[in-house]
Amino acid sequence: GIVPNAASPKPMQHPRWARINTLKSTLDDQLQTTFAGFEIVDSLEQILVGESANKILHVDKHVPDLVALAPGTELSKTAAYRKGLIIFQDKASCFPAYLLDAKPEYGTCLDACAAPGNKTTHLAAVLKGSDTTGGKPRIWACERDKVRAGILTAMIGLAACQDIVTVKAGQDFLLLNPEQKPWSEVGSLLLDPSCSGGGIIGRDDIHSVTLPSSTEKGHGPAKSRKRKRKVQTDIKSIADKAREGTQEVVESDDRGDRFSERLRALAAFQLRILLHAFRFPNARRISYSTCSIHAEENEIVVLATLKSNEAKQHGWRLLGRDEQISGMKSWPIRGDVQACQAGIADGSLGAAQIAEACIRCRPGTEEGTQGFFVAAFVRNAHEGFTHS
Ligand code: SAM
Repeated sequence: GIVPNAASPKPMQHPRWARINTLKSTLDDQLQTTFAGFEIVDSLEQILVGESANKILHVDKHVPDLVALAPGTELSKTAAYRKGLIIFQDKASCFPAYLLDAKPEYGTCLDACAAPGNKTTHLAAVLKGSDTTGGKPRIWACERDKVRAGILTAMIGLAACQDIVTVKAGQDFLLLNPEQKPWSEVGSLLLDPSCSGGGIIGRDDIHSVTLPSSTEKGHGPAKSRKRKRKVQTDIKSIADKAREGTQEVVESDDRGDRFSERLRALAAFQLRILLHAFRFPNARRISYSTCSIHAEENEIVVLATLKSNEAKQHGWRLLGRDEQISGMKSWPIRGDVQACQAGIADGSLGAAQIAEACIRCRPGTEEGTQGFFVAAFVRNAHEGFTHS
């Protein structure tokens, strides 16, 4: 398994990640103002083993406009933080908007599960940055929970993207009619639905998390047969539940049967969100993410999606690793191959390629991220959408 680097003089820490809000500032501006006097270090490891609150900074190599700082770095009193020039956001949580790679010319964007809005404001920054037409990139931010939608609206104001984003407070994404305007004009969707949160780590408990099963060693043939059966049963049961429209949450914190039941219920809900997104007639790009480390909510949902009639009917496929934006293509941690192998019964899809297309983040490792999963789906003009 993956253990914190034994050669490190100090235990591994979780860095403080700050995204520069390019709607209000630039990386260069921040390096010269908020981070003036910080020593810029080339490797993330120097941050991970450094003294807390040392003034050191690492510019991330995968996601643009993202910096890592020593864990105890106190920035919450800075003007940059209070005014929304920098936003605290874990590196992994920056992957979906970056991977989605939406362009204003694709049509509007829809963030289906938006609050508190970290990914919405990031998406707004990415879109505005890629706008060469001088037009107004538009985002719909949908949030079912009215209280959380209030936080979302505040966050959008702070990040200065209220001219780009329209909040649909109290709106259930599953109740939107994709065929009706303005939804029929949506070109890209960011899906970050509720999950078990298995990958979320507090700043101090990074050594107590369980790692994804792909990183475990010592699966014998019997264990692997058992897993294959479980994955196939899961896919079927998730798909059945998604069709029935079962509501998501079964409360449980234990790791026993009720935990599996809860994961399957969440996965069925996540699958419904994805299948609904497939029905948007002019959509051409979708990102799907969770902060869970469990294959049930990640690779298995992706596999169930690929096996669905909706994917076939509307021409959706996974965005392959080679087609991904540079920083995501070069990100080394990919999907759970074993889960993908177990989930493929008919041999029509390549398990290795599916796993490669999936992006994972391991909690509490030298990458300094939370546990996370993201994959993207695409379709080409001849496969579905009519808008150009
Ligand atoms: N994307 C957010 C961010 O980066 O800040 C985090 C999203 S959180 C994981 C999931 C959110 O989806 C919750 O706020 C939840 O209330 C909302 N949600 C769950 N089901 C929904 C649905 N059917 N329609 C709209 N929002 C939903």
